[in-house]
Amino acid sequence: MPATAHFYQDPPHIVRGSMQYVFDQHDKRYVDFYAGVSVMNCGHSNPELIAKTTKQLEDLQHTSTIYLTQPIVDLAEKLADVLPGNLNRTFFCVTGSEANEGAMALARLHTQKRGFIALKGGLHGRTHLTMSVTGIPMWRLDDQLVEDDIYFIDRPHHPETEAKEAMETSLQQLKVILEARGEHIAALILEPIQGNGGIIMYPKDYLIQVKQLLSKHNILLIVDEVQTGYGRTGKMFAVEHYQVIPDILVSAKALGNGIPISTFSTNDTIAASFNKPSASTFGANPVAATTALHVLDYLNSHQLVKRAETLGDYLKEKLVSLHSKLIKEIRGIGLMIGVEIQSPSSKLTGAELTDQIIEDMKNKGFLIGKNGLERNVLAFQPPLVIEKQDIDQMLEALTNTLAKSETLYCD
Ligand code: PMP
Repeated sequence: MPATAHFYQDPPHIVRGSMQYVFDQHDKRYVDFYAGVSVMNCGHSNPELIAKTTKQLEDLQHTSTIYLTQPIVDLAEKLADVLPGNLNRTFFCVTGSEANEGAMALARLHTQKRGFIALKGGLHGRTHLTMSVTGIPMWRLDDQLVEDDIYFIDRPHHPETEAKEAMETSLQQLKVILEARGEHIAALILEPIQGNGGIIMYPKDYLIQVKQLLSKHNILLIVDEVQTGYGRTGKMFAVEHYQVIPDILVSAKALGNGIPISTFSTNDTIAASFNKPSASTFGANPVAATTALHVLDYLNSHQLVKRAETLGDYLKEKLVSLHSKLIKEIRGIGLMIGVEIQSPSSKLTGAELTDQIIEDMKNKGFLIGKNGLERNVLAFQPPLVIEKQDIDQMLEALTNTLAKSETLYCD
């Protein structure tokens, strides 16, 4: 279908992966700085994990939740240990969209209200309701989305204003909606750091203030950690950067390190409202649950969360020291760093320049991601097993690529 597009004019055909590297059909090696969109935190075809997954494949592949199996129980218990605060009940699904949809259904069941608030620039999925709360025009594929009692507020980040001012605007917009429609709204959903929206982090106390405002109206806070969860930002979950415990936390992507699995988790009180029958056929089937359990062990035993923090600091510092005229802003935390590109020439847009940069970097053996409302943000979200020397080599290549573009386009 035409909706399926590749990043590159000349896309590599990837046939093999090994930890932080992938290889094309000519056996050319690429350092993967996008990790399949924030999925392969423990690396491609990680031998330790593959051994556990294949053993489970040999023993028992699938039953669905209508029979008793052990891995799903072990995983639910393990998640209760690693999730923030009192989030100790988990429902398992397969994709991020499905888990967000489930989280929103749970919020409606618990509050007996139907509306939602979301942030502009947020992305929550491809189902009807999750697309309806997605605040990025290009990902709102369907023109007939839900509009009744769905409200968007500005994200607390604005290129031309101070962080504090942007935060006040966002909170003021929230207050106005709460005053008018608070008794009809079930939840506010947000990513703790916007991924697709261009790697946008919020001022430190934004979430604390949002949570306080919501509590007054019995509105739940759903935190979508689909892209940020499992060590990516230098904390197990990105919401931990803001000292807030959400009512519902959604995760997917990196939990299975490439085996599809997603979750929504909550506390005992809210979980009690999810009491009508519900089942996701593949949700945490034995293969997915076993893999996820070992992903959590692997993150812990290889100290990958700390590693994301340390290497992320290093990467960010080095990116800042590039001082390129093509760089407008550098954002993010841990191994989730965004570099916003600006075009110095009327000959091409920031998005076109970004495309040229990632194409050139790909030719040099580095796969860099791309996102942002204008599609002009380079996204650095590598497997957390990446080595410092991979980062150094990438920075050297990026320096040359940026210099080449500067000579071509700066007047
Ligand atoms: N939420 C966020 C923050 C995402 O980044 C994505 C996908 N990129 C989704 C939800 C949807 O996840 P999926 O593609 O697994 O349905």
